[in-house]
Amino acid sequence: MSLRPMAMEMLRLAHLHPGITRAEAARRLGIGSGAASDLAASLLGTGLLAERPTQAAGRGRPTREFVAAPRGPLVLAVAIRHGSWRLDAFALGDRRLASVSGRHHGDSQARAVPAIATAVTAMRRRFPGRVRGLGVSGAGTVREGRWLDATTFGWRGVDLRRIWPRAPLFAAGNDATLAAIAEGLRGTARTSDLTVHLHIDVGLGGAVLQAGAVVEGAHRLAGEFGHMPMGDQRIHCPCGARGCWGASLDGTYLAFLLDDPPPTDPVGYAQRVLERAHAGDRAARAAARRVARTLGRGTAGLVNALDADLVVLGGLAPDIVKAAPAGFDSSYRDGLMAARREIPTPVQHAVLGEEGPLIGAAETVWPLLWRQLSAETR
Ligand SMILES: [Zn+2]
Repeated sequence: MSLRPMAMEMLRLAHLHPGITRAEAARRLGIGSGAASDLAASLLGTGLLAERPTQAAGRGRPTREFVAAPRGPLVLAVAIRHGSWRLDAFALGDRRLASVSGRHHGDSQARAVPAIATAVTAMRRRFPGRVRGLGVSGAGTVREGRWLDATTFGWRGVDLRRIWPRAPLFAAGNDATLAAIAEGLRGTARTSDLTVHLHIDVGLGGAVLQAGAVVEGAHRLAGEFGHMPMGDQRIHCPCGARGCWGASLDGTYLAFLLDDPPPTDPVGYAQRVLERAHAGDRAARAAARRVARTLGRGTAGLVNALDADLVVLGGLAPDIVKAAPAGFDSSYRDGLMAARREIPTPVQHAVLGEEGPLIGAAETVWPLLWRQLSAETR
């Protein structure tokens, strides 16, 4: 490997492990301290990274750690959710510099997209010359990396590119997929070989991560576990199919079980029902148990089918498990093949929470920047 690709590797390490020391980076790259100094010098000269003395140099020789350069490149990330959006600016190493948010209503794609675009323009002006690209997370299906269909809040064929039409670097994806990417890079799935990530908000989305990379499918639409027909056959899903698994796990289904009208804010409604279940309300507990069982059974099916060594639950899924842990556990275990039951694949809760899709959106743009930098120096 010549010096330049090696410098890129050092840059990637510094991004993935903020605060990594020069010595540790050298060890991971398998190079000596002299070569590491040369690489560090070439990187510091680019204005991408800076170094500072480590604060934790309690013993041994003092060393230096990599941090984002004070005027280094930034990536913007937008998350479009049911009823709201958020825009964050990230420096190298997942360092958040700014965040703004707004609300939108179900029928408002014509107004919401220009509002987000205006916020992006303002953010670029706030950090002049530094913003290199945009990543967008959508709570729906994202076709061809740009067209958002969010059936749960009535958006169809929304061109996410319109948020920043001339963005030099652009990526967009489904929120659950991006949350899975974030957990794989910076969360609970960093050491897993095959992770099944399940994210419930309005319906259920997910992703399979193999060695940290998303299994994308032929049209980059894989991971729609919510639309496997493993749910209540009485329910018609907004996707057009009947009995979808995700439609038996969300707030709208909890309302169906409790004889309430369909909620306008299914996530908030589900949170309130699950809190009531946690507090001992009988009807809410019965509904939560039913949903937890459905979640456990389907999770077992995915573990069996995909040979997963980790399941990560995000969004409302951890709250469902907490509201009815025994219901989830027994259904999960009963659904596992006998050979798997002795040491069941662990089920962990996502650690990045609501930040996951935003972090994942930013993390899909940084590799585009690496590619651009490699091309520039070639
Ligand atoms: Zn469906």
